Amino acid sequence: MKYISTRGQSPALTFSEILLGGLAPDGGLYLPESYPQISDADLTAMRGMSYAELAFAILSRFVDDIPASDLKTIIDKTYTAEVYGFTRQGQNPADITPTLKLDENLYLLSLSNGPTLAFKDMAMQLLGNLFEYVLAKTGKTTNILGATSGDTGSAAEYAMRGKQGIRVFMLSPHKKMSRFQTAQMFSLQDENIYNIAVEGVFDDCQDMVKAVSNDAAFKADYKIGAVNSINWGRIVAQVVYYFKGYLAVTNNNSQKVSFSVPSGNFGNVCAGHIARMMGLPIDKLVVATNENDVLDEFFKTGLYRPRGSANTYHTSSPSMDISKASNFERFVYDLVGKDSAKVRELWTSVDSGGSFNLTEQGYFDKVASFGFVSGSSNHANRMRTIREAQQKYGVVIDTHTADGLKVALEYADKNTPMLVLETALPAKFEDAIAEALGHAPERPVSLNGIEALPQRFTLMKADAGAIKDFIAKNT
Ligand SMILES: *Cc1c(COP(=O)(O)O)cnc(C)c1O
Repeated sequence: MKYISTRGQSPALTFSEILLGGLAPDGGLYLPESYPQISDADLTAMRGMSYAELAFAILSRFVDDIPASDLKTIIDKTYTAEVYGFTRQGQNPADITPTLKLDENLYLLSLSNGPTLAFKDMAMQLLGNLFEYVLAKTGKTTNILGATSGDTGSAAEYAMRGKQGIRVFMLSPHKKMSRFQTAQMFSLQDENIYNIAVEGVFDDCQDMVKAVSNDAAFKADYKIGAVNSINWGRIVAQVVYYFKGYLAVTNNNSQKVSFSVPSGNFGNVCAGHIARMMGLPIDKLVVATNENDVLDEFFKTGLYRPRGSANTYHTSSPSMDISKASNFERFVYDLVGKDSAKVRELWTSVDSGGSFNLTEQGYFDKVASFGFVSGSSNHANRMRTIREAQQKYGVVIDTHTADGLKVALEYADKNTPMLVLETALPAKFEDAIAEALGHAPERPVSLNGIEALPQRFTLMKADAGAIKDFIAKNT
């Protein structure tokens, strides 16, 4: 299995070769040359599998340059009840991603039981183990540099802490994350984790990362790596739970299900699209956005119009506050019939601050055949949905999941199970939950008092030179 770029001008590479990188050299995103197909018999065989067995059955179809027994060991060590233990009362941690029935044909797919209480742990924990394995094999090391407003940075740090050959330098805007998120990250005492609080906003952090990435010599000398949302390893790991969710709510392969996905950078729902392309019987993929509705606008009109960071709203579902959807190019590549020249043309416009309209270009009609529909939410919808979920279903959900549920209900049909992906636990966004319900959500007992733990971080000016000096001094 080789991986090619959506822009068609980079050499084809193996899984391990693209694992540690970001964009392809031609500016595109990596995709497999073709999607492996799951037969009816394969799907039937998957019905009895544990999460780790299922993950191996799926990932081994995408990874052919790591010996199967090694891949299996890495997967078995990742998907355990110990790692994904923050399940709700009554749920079995051994299920890794348990489903919770809310109503007739309406379910929550719990993806946020990992160490940082958000779905990003599902892929990032695997990535940490894969990175360590591939680096050990090649005798290399890497310094991961990233910017975070909360969920990505903590998931990356909890996945990479203590790993051989890996250091993490994570920039976050000083005093802009929630107290809980700050405590989650800054209380880590592992020597290979460097938290850097930048005197500025998230965009300043991102600009510092970009400046370092654009310095090719520094990047090579200091082996700078990334774990951002376009990383193929993250996408492919997320394919697994679409299968798990499907199998949990069906008993034969002629049934279809729909998924509602709280979306930002389009990584999560892109994995759902890939599951569908592999042959998983998915009816609808519901793209749910918040006030930053660039994706909702596209799926309703065919117009893709990134907003720019100055026009990005700060919302109460902050992990979906994006100006453009980084992974969207992967879907558009399939939509335009794998025509990489077309993708280059479209992104020439996007990369220079423009937009494109696929209705005018005759491609938009095909969106429905891929099962995509969409909707958006806002703060008032979110608060009401959190209250109604508690009253009607007796469950407290977080703000992002509330956006997913709100839009799911607009597309729910009585005959098709709808699974709403739970992308974070409410404990992670206490203030918003308290606003909705009048009281803070329950927090896992082992995380009580986390804000009082000693914190380890470095305060830094928003200056690319400062982070370069810091990396140079600490490697
Ligand atoms: C990252 C994140 C999202 C958005 O996921 P994408 O893959 O970027 O679409 C949604 N909800 C939560 C809680 C997140 O952390």
